[in-house]
Amino acid sequence: MPAQDTFLNSAAPFKGWKAREGDQLFSSGGQPGDFTAGRAAAGDLPDVARMVKRVCKASNGAQARLKQRGISENEDASENFAGDARLRSPAGVLSERRGSYPFIDFRLLNNTTYSGEIGTKKKVKRLLSFQRYFHASRLLRGIVPQASLHLLDEDYLGQARHMLSKVGMWNFDIFLFDRLTNGNSLVTLLCHLFNSHGLIHHFHLDMVKLHQFLVLVQEDYHSQNPYHNAVHAADVTQAMHCYLKEPKLASVLTPMDIMLGLLAAAAHDVDHPGVNQPFLIKTKHHLASLYQNVSVLENHHWRSTIGMLRESRLLAHLPKEVTQDIEQQLGALILATDINRQNEFLSRLKAHLHNHDLRLEDSEHKHFMLQIALKCADICNPCRIWDMSKQWSERVCEEFYRQGDLERTFELEISPLCNQQKDTIPSIQIGFMTYIVEPLFEEWAHFTGDSPLSENMLCHLRKNKAKWRGLLHKQHSKSSDHSGQMTDTDGNPSQTSKEGEVP
Ligand SMILES: [Zn+2]
Repeated sequence: MPAQDTFLNSAAPFKGWKAREGDQLFSSGGQPGDFTAGRAAAGDLPDVARMVKRVCKASNGAQARLKQRGISENEDASENFAGDARLRSPAGVLSERRGSYPFIDFRLLNNTTYSGEIGTKKKVKRLLSFQRYFHASRLLRGIVPQASLHLLDEDYLGQARHMLSKVGMWNFDIFLFDRLTNGNSLVTLLCHLFNSHGLIHHFHLDMVKLHQFLVLVQEDYHSQNPYHNAVHAADVTQAMHCYLKEPKLASVLTPMDIMLGLLAAAAHDVDHPGVNQPFLIKTKHHLASLYQNVSVLENHHWRSTIGMLRESRLLAHLPKEVTQDIEQQLGALILATDINRQNEFLSRLKAHLHNHDLRLEDSEHKHFMLQIALKCADICNPCRIWDMSKQWSERVCEEFYRQGDLERTFELEISPLCNQQKDTIPSIQIGFMTYIVEPLFEEWAHFTGDSPLSENMLCHLRKNKAKWRGLLHKQHSKSSDHSGQMTDTDGNPSQTSKEGEVP
């Protein structure tokens, strides 16, 4: 089906290969005994924040030691990444090693009184614009920021903590949470979820190493990507947390399943370059040949995750067979997010539900449903409340358009959905919802037995689709006014897109 192919071919990512087993660059300052599971297990966010502060001290100590040896962090990192395969593609797409967030010093904001309530978006925006000014003025005055890790201050801590107490709610506002945590939504969310699910205690995880691993993951997302950035990863992780709590699934999940689900969600798009697989193939990117044009981005996300797990030594205390199994299962989960494999997963899910032969006590079936849960979490944007859903839609289209601009610049054929002049946001979204999101979420609802969350998601999905149809109708009316030509006003997106692209 051409329309479906359009969507299947237009949503793929990429990362850099880095197998650095045994690398202890970020582990040298850690004091495992200080942050072991027993101490962390009972903690809530303040405990996590205290531990994070201690981790920061430890990390600074490690950096200082590196400097004493005459090795700056970057120099050392470049040595460590000498074998890294992430290079520039022939079309000039830059692949950065770490995302970089603007330096924001929260200390100046400590004077504000904590009200105990979530601040309004306007208030947060105002504070952050002040911070941006402060940062800019420091740079203008030649003051080089010293700390690279930003910590929650008491003001924001209270607001973020309040949000985390409702992390299982479907209307959780990840954009606000990201602002409250100063761009550290992924690290803060994962620390909280690992703690609240009892994973730190169960697996005897070292909080220093856990934090170091999460920082590696968060920073390997490209903050300049409008869509495939760390906030998307945090959003998918929050959705995954909601799905793991679905009674049908929760009753059979082990701590290992929960840890795999959360880790896979957090890292499933790490180091995404902001362009899709067809782009990497046609520009002869080295990753395309490395993975022989098959699930190029997903393979890269998985391999990068393994590299960071080994680098942080987070699971180094577990038996080798266990860590090998974790690495394999993470691969199976992350690779399932390849949108090109949508039909394969959907058909199998439909068959299981039709035949009533899904046995979740069977580890293979349970693992399959974890894959489906992650796939749902990855494309759940249209099932969120309109305000958030719309933001995500605009972001993903902006990323498509940037790819289209790049293709235009390098005189390549512009990929489907990437032409800003022809592919409008409403038409892209209606096609995406109709051919990708609805079929999957209808089956998911079937699996959950029409749980309240599933009903809620389908309700948002239908309302959001109606809103996009309304916007499409308006666009058609406008273009009709301007051109004087008759246009279809029934909201059918096929009328505004290239032939064969959207039905
Ligand atoms: Zn994703």
